Amino acid sequence: MNRKALPREAYCPTAVEHIANILTHVLCAPLELVNRSSDGNQLLSAVVYGATLVILFCVSTSFHCVFYCNNYRSLKDILHRCDRAMIYIFIAGSYFPWLTLEQLPHEGWASQMRWIVWILAVLGIIYQQVFHERYKMLETIFYLIMGIGPVLPIVNEHYFMGMKELTIGGILYVFGIIFFKCDGVVPCAHAIWHIFVVLAAYFHYYAILNYLYPIAIAA
Ligand SMILES: [Zn+2]
Repeated sequence: MNRKALPREAYCPTAVEHIANILTHVLCAPLELVNRSSDGNQLLSAVVYGATLVILFCVSTSFHCVFYCNNYRSLKDILHRCDRAMIYIFIAGSYFPWLTLEQLPHEGWASQMRWIVWILAVLGIIYQQVFHERYKMLETIFYLIMGIGPVLPIVNEHYFMGMKELTIGGILYVFGIIFFKCDGVVPCAHAIWHIFVVLAAYFHYYAILNYLYPIAIAA
């Protein structure tokens, strides 16, 4: 911890305390899903989706804290790679509850999408590790393909209850990407990207909570 704040001063948390502050907030979301789980699949979905959500924010916060401190160059580079890798994992994690808990068609692409999203995530991470910070536009296109692609063969054959919220979340991510690419063009562009991510993730969480983990009403 850092030294205690003077009477007219705000306390300045250490990097670890910053992470703990964020984690204790973001942990509440998956815990609510775990709490509402009534079978093994719901519990598994809550754990997988919740873990990707928590790790995403944890890695991102760690990266930005270390980057800000500017003392640990190699740690910053590792965290930067992890931060980008987590985008692929978080997309797969966000799909997971829908592909696990919904009754998907038994044939065709839609039936296999549960595995395909994880294969896409692994391929995306391998690409991103090999070509880190090269062909950056191509990497952004991969995020878009992985974010939007898997849902396309499914929506034709299956209706999702939370489609409105999922679409709003998806649109927010896509708009956010505009700012993700605007560092040095728009002031605080990366922070605006973060705000879009938080809002989009909130809409998706809200849809998962309400439609996949409804509160059981006693008869
Ligand atoms: Zn960031």
